[in-house]
Amino acid sequence: MKGRKLLMIPGPIEFEPEVLQALGAPTTSHTAPNFITSFGNCLKMMKQVWECPDGQPFIMAGTGTLAMDMAGANLIEPGDKALVISTGYFGERYAELLKRYGADVTILKSEPGHTVDFSAIEEALKTNDYKLMTFTHVDTSTAVRVDPKPIGELGRKYNVLTVLDGVCSIAGEEMRQQEWGIDVALTASQKAVGVPPGLALLVASSKAMETWKNRKTPVGNYYCDWSNWLPIMQAYEEGRPSYFGTPAVNLVAALEVSLKMILAEGMEKRVVRHEALAKEFRQKIRDMGFQMMPVNEESSANTLSAIYFPETINGSEFMAGMAKSDVIIAPGLLPELKGKYFRVGHMGSVNRSDIVSVLAAIEKTISQLKNLP
Ligand code: PMP
Repeated sequence: MKGRKLLMIPGPIEFEPEVLQALGAPTTSHTAPNFITSFGNCLKMMKQVWECPDGQPFIMAGTGTLAMDMAGANLIEPGDKALVISTGYFGERYAELLKRYGADVTILKSEPGHTVDFSAIEEALKTNDYKLMTFTHVDTSTAVRVDPKPIGELGRKYNVLTVLDGVCSIAGEEMRQQEWGIDVALTASQKAVGVPPGLALLVASSKAMETWKNRKTPVGNYYCDWSNWLPIMQAYEEGRPSYFGTPAVNLVAALEVSLKMILAEGMEKRVVRHEALAKEFRQKIRDMGFQMMPVNEESSANTLSAIYFPETINGSEFMAGMAKSDVIIAPGLLPELKGKYFRVGHMGSVNRSDIVSVLAAIEKTISQLKNLP
């Protein structure tokens, strides 16, 4: 398409034409048989993508923050202790959110680019009676990836619910919710799931649903209350019409197309594609003299990269130069490192030519900066 720019930010991303076509199809009634089938298919396919066959999926109109809110609202009761493992901006957000529901929150926070030691997490769990812990699978502000498997194990060992913020990981990074013992795994449509912004997606384990059922106090958020939404999700999965709040009909139609494409590729292959492209991107970026924010390969996300500007490059001049190219990238997000780094998204429909294009645009921008008088 003439004049089209390549969107390489960490969400929203480039969407498949088939997904956009579904979004543009005439809107049907939310109780029409075809829509009920689509919604039910999405719920079933989410369980496959999340690898959580016994989980309870929820699809809501809203953003990723709403999915975070839904988990917090339904699982926290005033006075509950919560542990937030923070590897960046979105960990801090989760801590603030849980406090609104009366949680007594402890944050274990890493330096930018680092992860929190599992031994520190275990020490915290040993010495306190936490009900729930949250962690960000991939924090979009630092491109740091946390290994969910040992956190799931710790959750089981200390009987603490685990909530994975997978807004920048699910459908891009390996995530085996049920096998790894993750109680809630949540995301938003606009990232690796590959649908324009507007859907909050969440899968809850049987243990999470049980904890919610056994609450002693009402859920402090009317819209998010699973009492309102669980019957709707059950109805759609069973092919029956139902209503609590009008669903985002066109976005759900687009989600069905995208989830089908994800499953046709296969999650294993999809993860390998993300890994291979991200690895190649990081290597080429380092070869250009940049330093990545994550301190090692194991904790580097495959869905996006966060890259420090070298001393020799003025960050705002670089971003201004890139803005003139045909590739859109994102500035840094951590307030304390404002102007010190930039971010490139590489998830979802991303392919090798996208990677080559963004590398070429970066290389050209640097050479233009060097040639400045
Ligand atoms: N968590 C993470 C890791 C994210 O990347 C984002 C969005 N960038 C959010 C939560 C919040 O999602 P949203 O902007 O859709 O509310």
